Amino acid sequence: GSNQKVEANILLLGAENVGKSALAVRFLTRRFIGEYSDIESIYSSSDRIDGREMSFNIWDSLHPQNCEMDGCISDKQLQWANGFILVYSICDRASFNVVRRQVQRIRQCKSKHAGATAPIVIVGNKRDLKHRRTVSSEEGTLLALSSDCGFFEISAAETYHGVLLVFHELLDLIREAKALR
Ligand code: GDP
Ligand code: MG
Repeated sequence: GSNQKVEANILLLGAENVGKSALAVRFLTRRFIGEYSDIESIYSSSDRIDGREMSFNIWDSLHPQNCEMDGCISDKQLQWANGFILVYSICDRASFNVVRRQVQRIRQCKSKHAGATAPIVIVGNKRDLKHRRTVSSEEGTLLALSSDCGFFEISAAETYHGVLLVFHELLDLIREAKALR
């Protein structure tokens, strides 16, 4: 029923140095600390979304060791996740290309599992560094539209609000996807 507690596994993906850890820490603690250790972590927490309690795990991923191409996703990660946050930096074009590949990989994989819809939110981070922008908002919007993903441009460094919107959007989508099954 509608009072059932929903569990969500959120996988944070993207190239190195785009702000994945900054996003996770900002969402969980509301703070930006500037320096993040490169440890693979799975955080567990819960929150009230639209008046309903949701518990969730956030997997802050690292580049897989046994994979030469930037942006691989392991089968284990794909099976674990109910939803994805794909992060690039608006001043790092290579990181945008990584997200593009990762969207394709997720969409291909999930289409093999009947009925499985995988919500994805794409995040263009570091919006505070406008003067160094190399990926336009339009490109981000287009990628999201063409692959049925959510999209936000944010600055994890400057504000908590944008980060909150990203996680709440994904948690909403995960809950909807689960309700449909
Ligand atoms: P990860 O490798 O994707 O986990 O990236 P980190 O979260 O470790 O962040 C990489 C670097 O970018 C760190 O020095 C952060 O302080 C910085 N950073 C993260 N988010 C932002 C942002 O929104 N704006 C700016 N200017 N720097 C950021
Ligand atoms: Mg990190």
